[in-house]
Amino acid sequence: MAVTETGVSYYGISYVEHARRDFQEMIDHNCTAVLLALSEFDLDFRKPAIKEIAQAGREMGLTVYLDTWGIGKWFGGEPPSLFLTNNVGNRQVSAFSDEPLPAACFNTTAFREYFFEQCDWLAKEVDADGFFWDEPHFALPKGYASITGGAGDDWACRCPFCRKQFEAQYGYDMPRQLTMEVKRFRHDRALDILETVSRRIKAIRENSKIICCVHATLGTYYVTENRGYDNWDKVARSDACDVFSSTILSYQLPRDFFRSITKRTIEVAKRNGVGNQRWIMGYYQQPENLDEIVDLAKLYADLGTESLFAWTYRGGHGTVLAAPRALELWDAVGRAYGEVLKR
Ligand SMILES: [Zn+2]
Repeated sequence: MAVTETGVSYYGISYVEHARRDFQEMIDHNCTAVLLALSEFDLDFRKPAIKEIAQAGREMGLTVYLDTWGIGKWFGGEPPSLFLTNNVGNRQVSAFSDEPLPAACFNTTAFREYFFEQCDWLAKEVDADGFFWDEPHFALPKGYASITGGAGDDWACRCPFCRKQFEAQYGYDMPRQLTMEVKRFRHDRALDILETVSRRIKAIRENSKIICCVHATLGTYYVTENRGYDNWDKVARSDACDVFSSTILSYQLPRDFFRSITKRTIEVAKRNGVGNQRWIMGYYQQPENLDEIVDLAKLYADLGTESLFAWTYRGGHGTVLAAPRALELWDAVGRAYGEVLKR
């Protein structure tokens, strides 16, 4: 297998004529695809621009994916949540303290309806090639960093809605400890919303490709982080996944980790008959020697990566999460793509 798709995420949901220039720059950086990072505010406020920008990307020959970025703070990402602003309830609740958390409980009917409506609209109205489920996760009450965060003791969600549903299923109050049943319940509820929405999308737009991107963590016998999507095989074989993807890795991690995560991602994808995708960190941090990005892309390609993406366009230039040498990093990503892409 070879790398047949190279892409970058893009925050620029504003003016289609600006997006066209940026898309040309992506093409010049050997990108074949773009991931539109859509915040809840974009989805509420910039609907016409989303349509125009997706269409422009397709017209220019890019494959266009829609990323429900940070929605409800259930998906990864920095944008604030309108759902949390507009709803006083329906929040995830800490199992240990019973405190509400700054994350929507995606298991509640209220949030599910909200999310389904957004995705129905995108599937109906926006001419795109697919959707991207971006690091979905239960809130980690201790606020561990999403990139490498270790396992904590506290967990979510033990809100009234989840407790009621757990009791209906198991016949007793939801424990405060992560028992086998609690883990199973959380896995099932975490997948159910993604499977339901993926089926709805395909009923509207049959050829929509669904990429499910989980946190690139150990997930071993001894250490799992209990985000709800830790059983990669279960995720990959679900209706929420045509392409199994694992997220970026910090350059401060040993290179062996890059190899083992990529190997495991590809094995899981193969075993479950779906495509695979790996991500390169193209913001915030950079390796000392930027040519290491080219080496990493080659390593991923050698291991069998089909789709290779970087977060984000121009190394995050102009944001607080820009890499120190953001534009040079972006050029290195472009060089790396040029080396591994089989057109
Ligand atoms: Zn809940």
